[in-house]
Amino acid sequence: MTKKSYSVGSETATGSDALVQANALLDEMFAPSAENCFAVEVLSKVLQFNTEKSLPAPDAPFGENVKACLDYVLQLASSFGLTVYDCDGYAGHAELVGTGDEALGILGHLDVVPAKAEEWIYPPYSATVTGDKLYARGVMDDKGPMIACLLAVKALKDAGFAPSKTVRLIFGCDEESGMQCVEHYFSKMPYPTVSFSPDGDFPVINREKGIYQFDVICGKLPNGVQISAGERANVVPSLCVVTTAKPLADCGKQTVCVKTSEGFTYTSTGKAAHGSTPDEGVNATHILLKALANAYPDNETLRFLSEKATDTSGKAWGIALSDKESGRLTCNLGVLRTASDGTLTATVDIRFPVTYDCAQMCDLLRANTPEAFDIVPAHISEPLHVPSDSALVTTLMDIYNRRMGVKMQPIAIGGGTYSRCLPNCVAFGPLFPGEEQTIHMPNECVSLNNLRTMTELYLEAIYRLSR
Ligand SMILES: [Zn+2]
Repeated sequence: MTKKSYSVGSETATGSDALVQANALLDEMFAPSAENCFAVEVLSKVLQFNTEKSLPAPDAPFGENVKACLDYVLQLASSFGLTVYDCDGYAGHAELVGTGDEALGILGHLDVVPAKAEEWIYPPYSATVTGDKLYARGVMDDKGPMIACLLAVKALKDAGFAPSKTVRLIFGCDEESGMQCVEHYFSKMPYPTVSFSPDGDFPVINREKGIYQFDVICGKLPNGVQISAGERANVVPSLCVVTTAKPLADCGKQTVCVKTSEGFTYTSTGKAAHGSTPDEGVNATHILLKALANAYPDNETLRFLSEKATDTSGKAWGIALSDKESGRLTCNLGVLRTASDGTLTATVDIRFPVTYDCAQMCDLLRANTPEAFDIVPAHISEPLHVPSDSALVTTLMDIYNRRMGVKMQPIAIGGGTYSRCLPNCVAFGPLFPGEEQTIHMPNECVSLNNLRTMTELYLEAIYRLSR
C-alpha cells in the first residue's frame, strides 16, 4: 500500500500503517451519511435494550434485559473476531489478544438509569436519529462510548493491527446501582496493567477526591425539639423541618414558621446541589441549626453541629485538608434525623484531597469530634490519583489536544467515576467541554459528529496505549 502521512504523537507516518488504515475504516463505518451508517445501526440495536436494573433471574443478576444486552454485545464482538467472556452475567469482556503479557483495559457499562417515557420527546429506547442527534437512554452513559471503543477495536483489528498489550473491553452491568458487576468480575479476572474508562469527561480526569460518608450519632436534643432534613448523604438538603417548644430568632427569609398546639414548626428552604460541590447549593439545615443553638445554648449536639458541621470547608471542624493536586476538602451535611428517644443522627459526605487516605481522614475526624459522639462510616472510597506526568495521562492528553487543536490540562473532580474501581485508570470522555450535559436526564442524546470524534480519539488511544 502507499504510505500516507499521518501524525502519531511525536513520530510521523511510516510505521503506523495500521492506524492510517483503521482511520480509513472508520470513514466507511460512518458512511454514507451520519444518519444511515454502520456505526449508528450497531449502536441503535444496543440502545434498544431497556437495561434498567430489574429483578434477578438465573444467570441474569441484574434482570433479563441487562443480560440480553450483554449477550448481544458479546455476540457482536465475537462476530468481529474478538475473544469474549461472560462473567456469570455480572459483566463480560471482549479481547483483541496481544503478543505480550500486559493488558489495556477499557471499562464501561451497559446498564442505564431509569427513564420516564412521559418526559421524553422520543421514546427512550427507540434510538431516534433526528438532524445531527441520536436520542436514547444510555447513548452517552455509557453504551455510546463503549460501542465507539468496540468499533475502534474492530477497525484496528481489520487494519491488521497486532497489539503488544491485550486490548480488553470490559462491559459492566451494574454501574448505576451498586457496582456489584466489577466486584464480581475482578474477583475472577486480574486487573489490566493500565486502563481508561469512557464514562466521564474529556479531556482526562486523573484525580478524584476520596469519599468519606458517615453518620455522627450525636447526643439528645432538648425536650420538644425535632429536626428532619435530607435523604442522601451526597445531596445538599433543600428542605429542613424543625419543631420546637419555644420560638426561634434569626431564621432567615427562606424559613416559614407555623404555630402549633405543642409549639412551633419551622420549614427552611435552600437549594439542592451535589454533595461534592456543597457551595453550589444552599444547605437548608445551616440557618435552623444556628437559630436552634442560639435558643438552646447549653445543648452540646446543637452547639457542635451549628459550629462545626455547617462549615463546608471543614475548617471549623478542624479537618480542612488541602493539596495542590486536587484542592480543598468539602463537607456536606446531607441528612439530619431525630430518633424517638431524642438522639440526633447527622449524615455527612466529605470529599478529601487525593494525597490523603481514608484512614487519615478517619483519625482526623475522631480527634476533632466530641468523644461522646459515635462516628459510623457508611460509604467510603479511596481517592483516585494517576499523576499528571504519567505515561497514561500524557499520552491521552496529547491525543486529545492535538486532535481538538487545544491546550487543555487534565481535570480534578470531587465526584467519583467508574475509574476508581481499578488501579491505574483514568476517565477519558465521552462528554466534551462545553457540550450540553444530558446524562441521567430526559432526552439523553449525542451529536453524531461528537460520536465520530470520540471514536477517532478512542481509536488512537487504544492504538498508542496497546502497541
Ligand atoms: Zn456511567
